[in-house]
Amino acid sequence: VRIYVPRDAAALAVGADAVARALTEECAVRGLPVELVRNGSRGLLWLEALVEVETAQGRVAYGPVSAADVPGLLDAGLLQGLPHALCHGLTEQIPYLASQERLTFARVGVIDPLSLADYAAHGGWQGLQAAATMAAETIVQQVLDSGLRGRGGAAFPAGIKWKTVAAAAGSQKYIACNADEGDSGTFADRLLMEGDPFCLIEGMAIAALAVGATQGYIYVRSEYPHAIATLKEAIARASAAGWLGGNVAGSGRAFYLQVRKGAGSYVCGEETAMLESIEGKRGIVRAKPPLPAIEGLFGQPTVINNVITLATVPVILAKGAAFYQGFGMGRSRGTLPFQIAGNIARGGLVEKAFGLSLRALVEDFGGGTATGRPVKAIQVGGPLGSYVAPADWDDPLDYETYAAKGNVVGHGGLVVHDDAANMARLARYAMEFCAIESCGKCTPCRIGSTRGVEVIDRITTNQGAAHAANVALLESLCDTMEGGSMCAMGGMTPYPVRSALTHYPQDFGIESAPAA
Ligand code: SF4
Repeated sequence: VRIYVPRDAAALAVGADAVARALTEECAVRGLPVELVRNGSRGLLWLEALVEVETAQGRVAYGPVSAADVPGLLDAGLLQGLPHALCHGLTEQIPYLASQERLTFARVGVIDPLSLADYAAHGGWQGLQAAATMAAETIVQQVLDSGLRGRGGAAFPAGIKWKTVAAAAGSQKYIACNADEGDSGTFADRLLMEGDPFCLIEGMAIAALAVGATQGYIYVRSEYPHAIATLKEAIARASAAGWLGGNVAGSGRAFYLQVRKGAGSYVCGEETAMLESIEGKRGIVRAKPPLPAIEGLFGQPTVINNVITLATVPVILAKGAAFYQGFGMGRSRGTLPFQIAGNIARGGLVEKAFGLSLRALVEDFGGGTATGRPVKAIQVGGPLGSYVAPADWDDPLDYETYAAKGNVVGHGGLVVHDDAANMARLARYAMEFCAIESCGKCTPCRIGSTRGVEVIDRITTNQGAAHAANVALLESLCDTMEGGSMCAMGGMTPYPVRSALTHYPQDFGIESAPAA
């Protein structure tokens, strides 16, 4: 009997290793022959540790399982997939999973992440094999036609970036994968790297063939030790099997790949600061131009894409641009892995085509708050994303609809707060976060964030005559940071601050919303 227990960091954090040990020991004592597979996470994080058992009908899910539950589960017939209080029936039929559109995450949680055979058996390498027979321009055109945009947050069309690098003059070109996933409430990159590392490797190899790069780097944040270890092992196995190295997939072209561990700074997720860090320097933002596509890593043309962008490329090459383009709405094509976190009953990853609403994600998928209290605020797009106005929670989630209202989709992270949250304190937190993480290169961000903390403190502690002046000062400070900062760190910190002030004025001691 084959049993799956995730090796994903989120599952490990709630005792998956102990569950795996208990299963192995208890089955040995009972003389039950089992094959234990350590898979990635299905992304149903509230059910971790999620144990699955293979049956003739399909995989049956049990969760959340602790080591102490194991004897009782075996008594109840776990190995036969029989009912138990922790049983959720067939995994694929759990509504949270069944109603998703998993393209990028199709294999995550399904396969053994480090098994080349499992990867190939579930459609792996088909995109790279197709790309290896294509002219470089054809690969770029496929990505252009798919409508894929950068999933790291900026949403820049991936194909245009690739086309620029392909056309750039340079003796050496690079593919740099941004895996410095530092946004609060986000974990899609990590889930993919730990659950399906060959998919990212395949996407990077396709990018290399498309632009003529021979060297790639995956810049992974230091807080992801499991992802780093998994990627290193996956790169070694893919190289040994000929998917990387001197003759990628029999194409006659070379591509070598290395992992670089991040230095623990949020701003290293900004693409040019990441390049500095990969080069071994302090992670400080570079002025643009020159664009990294022209002069990037070590001064050479460089494709910089986020993990999810690159991991989406294989399915596009395998199934065609039209297939991927068929999902989504407007100029937001394909799917996005949304990540639901914070005060939420059913936190996890939901891959859906663009166009569903925030309310559907938080209520239908997330099941409302974990505390059972009303949802008060939802921050979308990480610590620099705005708190979306409650009146806009039914808007379709796509880049343009969100941008039109001053919101961002970003990396698809949602952080939910119940009605006990104080939005002035959360606005202060945004300024404090910026003050701590600022690289210090420009004044509006470096100094403005510290002044921002001070002025919010004055607003919340002084309701006297100076109150209105302090609110006006905060607005003015936000204008300066937004208009005068060199990168998104200082430029977008005003988003959560302003939206908190606008949509929740009472938390700042204001009777009604300030004039726009
Ligand atoms: Fe550095 Fe902040 Fe300026 Fe960005 S906005 S370059 S993080 S000081």
